[in-house]
Amino acid sequence: MMDKTIVELHEELKSGKVTSDELVQESLKKSHEVQEKCNAFVTILDDAKGTEVTDDLLSGIPFGIKDNYSTKGILSTGSSNTLKDYVPFFTATAIENLTKHGCVPVNKTAMDEFGMGGTGTTGHTGVQKNPWDTSRMCAGSSSGSAAAVAAGVYPFATGSDTGDSIRKPAAFCGIVGYKPTYGMISRYGLFAFASSLDTCGVLTRSVEDAAIVVDAMKGIDPKDMTSWDSSNINLYKDLSKDVKGKKLFYIKEIVDKNNYKNLPKETEEHLDNFMKTIDKVKELGIEVEEVSINQDLLNAIASTYVVISCAEATSNMSNLTGFSFGPRGEGSTYQEQMKDHRTKGFSSLIKRRFVIGSYVLQAVNQDKYFKNAQRARRLIVDAIKEQFKKYDGLILPVGTGPATKLDNHDMVSDDELTVLDEHLQIGNFGGFPSITIPNGFVDGLPVGINITGNCYDDQNVLNIAYALESSMDYKNQIAKEVK
Ligand code: GLN
Repeated sequence: MMDKTIVELHEELKSGKVTSDELVQESLKKSHEVQEKCNAFVTILDDAKGTEVTDDLLSGIPFGIKDNYSTKGILSTGSSNTLKDYVPFFTATAIENLTKHGCVPVNKTAMDEFGMGGTGTTGHTGVQKNPWDTSRMCAGSSSGSAAAVAAGVYPFATGSDTGDSIRKPAAFCGIVGYKPTYGMISRYGLFAFASSLDTCGVLTRSVEDAAIVVDAMKGIDPKDMTSWDSSNINLYKDLSKDVKGKKLFYIKEIVDKNNYKNLPKETEEHLDNFMKTIDKVKELGIEVEEVSINQDLLNAIASTYVVISCAEATSNMSNLTGFSFGPRGEGSTYQEQMKDHRTKGFSSLIKRRFVIGSYVLQAVNQDKYFKNAQRARRLIVDAIKEQFKKYDGLILPVGTGPATKLDNHDMVSDDELTVLDEHLQIGNFGGFPSITIPNGFVDGLPVGINITGNCYDDQNVLNIAYALESSMDYKNQIAKEVK
């Protein structure tokens, strides 16, 4: 049953063909299988029970929670040793909003430590493996959520996205990943990574399911001053609005094969795939045009992201001292204890980021690095917003192709491919709504395509994604092992 969509599951529940308890049991059984194969979870909630089935589409349906969402009475580690025993006394607003609809959490999904990383290899419980091919990564940081949804553990799991952490793993696992406009979903209770970029969202196997889930998660929250009132937006109800006459653009410098000297074969195919899908988009009556964006600005995306996200992370995570949360470090002074806690607690990737963050925030460096990165961020966002005056959205391929091999994960990708790999960060710079949907296969492995729109224009972005998804064959795709 767990291969079904939310609406299909709801019908089965309503007609009495299955009970919520049976669904939960099936999902738990599947969780253990996927744990064995992909190492997707930090915690499996074996005591989970079904709930009453109401007219609410989400009632009685099992789902997963990324481990950086605080859950009252349930271990919430953010996949970090620094919080390996942390059990919060409150639940994140987004999760409370969801469970009010009667859906049932069955596990907490593993991730890159505190969301920092794009490989699913840095969490304290080990590496997440891609259910399509376990020698490959899921991407990250929502690696466990992506693996579980793709493997058919349940129809949806929450994710968080600071640079691309929902949308990249969705692409690598052949599913849908939706990051709504910044502040549409409250961040209260989401472990902070880089607060000006962090966004809650969801991984599903269809655009429809993404709309249903985000409708439930969103809403203004007095506990998050960046949240806003979206009660006039009903993503699910308005999903099939006509898209004829809409206009999209793609960025020439990113998708033009001639812009790259040494294009790997799979990247070339991925870009060809993208262009073929552009023809499908046009058949839907959507205009698509090529737009040039200043190459210097595009080249600045990745470094701008590094400076801003590392600076914010360094500041946000200075509370992880081992005194108020996590295991107490050893030593005879509080400085020694703190040092011991942080030395043992964090992975080397995070420590490197803290070094960068501290450096760019130092008084002598701040203007040169941190403030300049803010300026670059503004220029990048302005360039894209300028296009949104004319276009309804930006359409681009996700990443450089299908999932990378796990044994290559330390390989620094070719410099000239960086923009292709990292451009989704534009969505976080601007707080833009952004959705990845599956776009077929390269070498038998899934690849993704992304649509990003202007702030508050989630409805429009989902309408286009829904229409495009309906014209292709990759909806509600479950991972089939390819070898
Ligand atoms: N890959 C990015 C990083 O390493 C994105 C992380 C995210 O979106 N949480 O920081």
